[in-house]
Amino acid sequence: MPHIATTNPATGQVLKTYEAMSTEQLDGAIERTDLAYRQLRDTTVDQRARWMNAAADLLDAERDEIARIMTTEMGKTYVAAQAEVTKCATAARFYADKAPVFLADEPADAAAVKAVRAFIRYQPIGVVLAVMPWNFPLWQVMRFAAPALMAGNTGLLKHASNVPQTALLLEDVFRRAGFPEGAFTTVLVGSEAVERILGDPRVRAATLTGSEPAGRSIAQIAGRELKKTVLELGGSDPFVVMPSADLDRAAEVATTARCQNNGQSCIAAKRFIVHTDVFDAFAEKFAANMAALRVGDPMDPNTDVGPLASERGRDEVHAQVRDAADNGATVLCGGEPPTGDGWFYPPTVVTDLTPQMRMWSEEVFGPVAGLFRVSSYEEAIEVANGTSFGLGSNAWTRDPAEQERFATDLDAGNVFINGMTTSYPELPFGGVKNSGYGRELSALGMREFCNTKTVWVGEGAASAGAGAHAE
Ligand code: NAP
Repeated sequence: MPHIATTNPATGQVLKTYEAMSTEQLDGAIERTDLAYRQLRDTTVDQRARWMNAAADLLDAERDEIARIMTTEMGKTYVAAQAEVTKCATAARFYADKAPVFLADEPADAAAVKAVRAFIRYQPIGVVLAVMPWNFPLWQVMRFAAPALMAGNTGLLKHASNVPQTALLLEDVFRRAGFPEGAFTTVLVGSEAVERILGDPRVRAATLTGSEPAGRSIAQIAGRELKKTVLELGGSDPFVVMPSADLDRAAEVATTARCQNNGQSCIAAKRFIVHTDVFDAFAEKFAANMAALRVGDPMDPNTDVGPLASERGRDEVHAQVRDAADNGATVLCGGEPPTGDGWFYPPTVVTDLTPQMRMWSEEVFGPVAGLFRVSSYEEAIEVANGTSFGLGSNAWTRDPAEQERFATDLDAGNVFINGMTTSYPELPFGGVKNSGYGRELSALGMREFCNTKTVWVGEGAASAGAGAHAE
């Protein structure tokens, strides 16, 4: 049986366990979500916006309690959890506000296609399965749910098995906000149920945020079933520091970029690629910043880094560090987990890495930085692009010509120059290579799960102009 439970990563204590849904219960949940779709697709975008704004108000009003649940389920600091709830409310309002624009009919050149009028209409496609990870347990779901529900789709959430309370409270928030019963349904099932759900004809598409193996598995099933998928997978983002960079600022942002969310972010900077002219100065500042972070109780507002979400995750991070150290790498700080309860790991910086070491090419999902020395722009690009991932990327340089080159040459879904990668509702988010495909957020994210319908009207038709409809 899958183990669906809340276990506090700061203590290792199991706080709540849940029975996985039976096959009959799961089928019933899919049925409710499909029936809700038939209702939701016929509502106006204004009505859905009122419900989405109400969901945002509930998130704001209940922020502290939701944040407390998230912290006890996966260990992020309470302060970070509060910020995550606020970010979700902002995204909900963004899509409530922008949906009429993103979904409006788009006129085309009628004369060029020999029509009286021609346009594109964006319509919902039905039930969308969302398989989500625990690391940003509210945000990862909301960035799918807000655009999907505003487009008139309904959502079926299979959340990670260690965040069941967060999963259930989201369903509750959308229901209380006024969305029809079943418009957003949480199913408490393990990952082995995903095949059955995706095989169900009532489920039209899937989005996954998670690991590469999960991505391969879902893409395979969806391929067989001919269903659309969006995959947001892992990353090992480069953070390149060139000689013209503001070193103090770069070392400060590098520390946050690596350790926010206790080092468990897909878009965390993980490989720090530093020009030899500034390598020693940057390494000293960066290691000092990392060593100064306070590790401890995630509920304490003075804590910078809480525990990792699971014992397995903590052990995996330590195995990657040990593999490097045992094979000749230098550990500049950290590298030894503390004794005692909870799955804590100290901020760690490792250098003198070689391609044979796991840390060279694998994603490290914890507060551990790999530091690489390069002697030219070309070598920096070669190391930065030399992994199977391509999610985010960062470059630090005050040279405008170099900024332009990085923007083009970094092989990733985003490039942040003189700043750290983050996500905004206004900007598309996603990766290339093994980091996945498709985009979330912005208008593109909303349209991933729309039927982009071409409408062509010839002679003899009534001629109401395109542009009025926004369903
Ligand atoms: P994970 O094991 O892939 O879990 C993510 C979700 O997928 C969970 O709901 C999990 O369910 C489910 N799952 C796991 N294996 C599956 C399978 N074979 N078939 C169907 N569903 C499956 O990921 P994780 O290790 O917990 O999360 C960390 C990973 O997510 C990292 O690689 C990170 O970079 C990535 N991530 C990517 C993004 C992005 O936007 N690109 C954002 C956040 C995280 P159970 O919990 O029941 O196993």
